[in-house]
Amino acid sequence: MTSKSSLTCEALLKKASARIDSDSPRLDAELLLSHITGLSRTSFRAWPEREVTDAHAEAFEALVQDRVAGRPVAHLLGQQEFWSLPLKVSASTLIPRPDTECLVEVALDLPLPRQARVLDLGTGTGAIALALASEHPEWQITACDAVAEAVALARDNADALGLTVSVVQSSWFSELTPGRFDLIVSNPPYIPDNDHHLKEGDVRFEPASALVSGRDGLDDLRLIVDQAPDWLLEDGWLLVEHGFDQAEAVAELFRARGFQDVETRQDYGNRDRMTLGRWCSGAAVITPAPNRGDADAQ
Ligand code: GLN
Repeated sequence: MTSKSSLTCEALLKKASARIDSDSPRLDAELLLSHITGLSRTSFRAWPEREVTDAHAEAFEALVQDRVAGRPVAHLLGQQEFWSLPLKVSASTLIPRPDTECLVEVALDLPLPRQARVLDLGTGTGAIALALASEHPEWQITACDAVAEAVALARDNADALGLTVSVVQSSWFSELTPGRFDLIVSNPPYIPDNDHHLKEGDVRFEPASALVSGRDGLDDLRLIVDQAPDWLLEDGWLLVEHGFDQAEAVAELFRARGFQDVETRQDYGNRDRMTLGRWCSGAAVITPAPNRGDADAQ
């Protein structure tokens, strides 16, 4: 009887939560126990005294040990929800973040044609492209990633969800079939290579290729902002995610390249997280006129 009482859901969750060192130990434990038992998280609240089999308790303990060692919950479950879509995840790409749902919301609010042509650069699991496809099945969505495993994963996710997205292997624009889009979205790597956050939490288990981008974190964003106009239709939009302290630098990249209506938007934590701009090739690019007098004097 005494040994059995330690196998109730509540007892297991309580013990596990006390060992897990994360921002959300109780949630982590509930997700892991739900994954093992097939019971819903609400059932743990409704029936805390429900007993768990020895086999389930053992399997749960193994996952808790991995979580205590730092492995992300998403990797342990093999899955992460994004925009209410269950997405398969793997160690070859970034785990979709809730804050990236804000980027999806901004994209959905843009004035776009009915059958918008959309490109998601560096799609990873396919999260952004698939969220957009779930809202607008009539959009023509292309997603690319440089990493072969990510391409396979994004295709798997699209198939599992029955959503149509064309996924191609390409490092940014390099391998894409020439064409133009109404909207280009991207959540590229944007963390500076010496950032101390890289040694903390889930990012330790995610590939640097999905996280890190040069000394100031802006190498990939510079390339994307620079090349996007060659792939945008008239009045097409570029919308990118970036670090909370990169908004000014990214907005400046947009303006210097000649984008119009450049704006920064916030994530769920009210941090500057996204910048967008409209491409209008006819707009006058304001460059200082050469000063003849000075030139002559040189
Ligand atoms: N926002 C993520 C983090 O801070 C990084 C995502 C990215 O580099 N695209 O962990």
